Amino acid sequence: MSRVVFREERCKGCLLCTEVCPTEILIQSDNFNKQGYKVVCVKNGDMEGCKGCAFCAEICPDEAIIVYRTKKSSKENDLSEEIDE
Ligand code: SF4
Ligand code: SF4
Repeated sequence: MSRVVFREERCKGCLLCTEVCPTEILIQSDNFNKQGYKVVCVKNGDMEGCKGCAFCAEICPDEAIIVYRTKKSSKENDLSEEIDE
């Protein structure tokens, strides 16, 4: 399973990431960061829908998303491959 990690303090709440996610798992949360922006989160905290495509990380203008993708050649749930930052 792939997963995303948010660097919430960088988020400006532009919601570009929510628009490009093919599985629509990213939503605006009710939490504000120190800059006063509402940050993004994964709907219900459920990463099952994450394909590891990294579209969200690529479009984020503030590099607020890191994507970890399961290595294809190794055992399942190995999340050691960081593909974008
Ligand atoms: S990596 Fe792809 S599927 Fe996962 S949250 Fe980002 S855009 Fe959505
Ligand atoms: S694209 Fe980046 S800055 Fe915009 S809402 Fe998503 S994480 Fe926040």
